[in-house]
Amino acid sequence: MPATGGGGMIGYARMMLHKLSNNGCHARMREHLALERLPHDELRHRQFWLAATFLKHAYETVPYYRNAMDELGLRPEHVRSFAEYGKLPVLTREVMRERKADLVSSAMPRKVVAALRGMAEGCVSTQVPRDKAARDETQANWLLCLTFAGWTLADMVVRLYTSSGAEAGNLVQPGVREWLAGTLSVDVRTHRPEDMAKWVRAIRRCGKSYLLGNAWVMSDMADYLDKAGIRLGNVRGAVTPGGRASAEQRQRIEASFGCVVHDLYGCSEVPCIAMECMEGNLHLLAHSAYVEFDPDPWCGAPYVLVTDINNKAMPVIRFATGDRAVPVDGDCGCGRGFPLMRMVSAAETWFLTAEGRYLPGGDFVSQVARLCGGADVRLRQGAPGEVRVLVATGDAAALERVEGFCRQAGGTAYPGLSFSVARGDDRMAAPVAGGRASD
Ligand SMILES: [Zn+2]
Repeated sequence: MPATGGGGMIGYARMMLHKLSNNGCHARMREHLALERLPHDELRHRQFWLAATFLKHAYETVPYYRNAMDELGLRPEHVRSFAEYGKLPVLTREVMRERKADLVSSAMPRKVVAALRGMAEGCVSTQVPRDKAARDETQANWLLCLTFAGWTLADMVVRLYTSSGAEAGNLVQPGVREWLAGTLSVDVRTHRPEDMAKWVRAIRRCGKSYLLGNAWVMSDMADYLDKAGIRLGNVRGAVTPGGRASAEQRQRIEASFGCVVHDLYGCSEVPCIAMECMEGNLHLLAHSAYVEFDPDPWCGAPYVLVTDINNKAMPVIRFATGDRAVPVDGDCGCGRGFPLMRMVSAAETWFLTAEGRYLPGGDFVSQVARLCGGADVRLRQGAPGEVRVLVATGDAAALERVEGFCRQAGGTAYPGLSFSVARGDDRMAAPVAGGRASD
């Protein structure tokens, strides 16, 4: 048994083994790696083709999508652009809960469909059932995401997992299988100090390695390492899928493990959406998920809608994650061609220009409020490029000041936007999307 697994011969053997093996997951990961250098247009073209093919599958085999599209008079062959794709209904968590049985594809083996529909009706699980191809894709994406953190095929992956399953290896004494597979799976469902002591011993034997797992588990481990005065010198990076690590967790993990933490943005419905690179930018995993930025009608931050283009068992199309984000133009210093996005806070103001670009509203609202003596101000995005400024004041002079400000703003600070001012009335009390009622 090699004592320092990561470097040298074992790493080389591991790399050769991965290259020669028929492991679908590694092969897919290598395909994805090739994609990240493609030009944006080509990636987008490919992405559309995948999404359109996936939509056809959904229409043909999933009652929910067939009904929804029939109601709209839309057939898959009518959807020839992402703009047309945007006419499809938004899938909310509520719909997923209530219509789960209708969301399962009949293309799955009959037994599987029966089991899934039964499960859906029983409301036993909130998990989205995923077929093997989708699970393989997630694994391939995890590897791809690890490369964002610097991992190579020669290095070890330490996977901290919380779900039950057959992934457990021999933790206390990683065997030849784990060494060669390059993965050490650690069951972190219970994490008392004595468990953590065991994990730390196992990780220490792994050589150059990268952690993949929940931020909270890693941050608990970081606490343990600090209390025990242990320094692991061999962990080179950490990837935290799912929930974003808080700034504090991140700091703690980075300080104790001596490595950089990278967020993998995703949710339980669509696990791999975007990945953070060394430059701190989030790259959309365009080969695997299609993300839309849906404008908030009240000029709040745009909503993230995501389509998972892999999971045929239960297609998730235009799913509202509940998160807010904006697309980011331009290239990243890391050289990857995957497009960029940025998570933003729900309370921010964002305008959609006539060209379909998002412009940050900055302090627009507070400036307008100041001009009219602190009156209530509400913004309403009409068509792209058109914003209605509703001000709750009867003061004609104040309204005139606001009008002057808006005329100027449209030409200077907010190019591509036209503002119209109106006295706030009962429309101010209209139901507010995205919880902007309080501001
Ligand atoms: Zn980058």
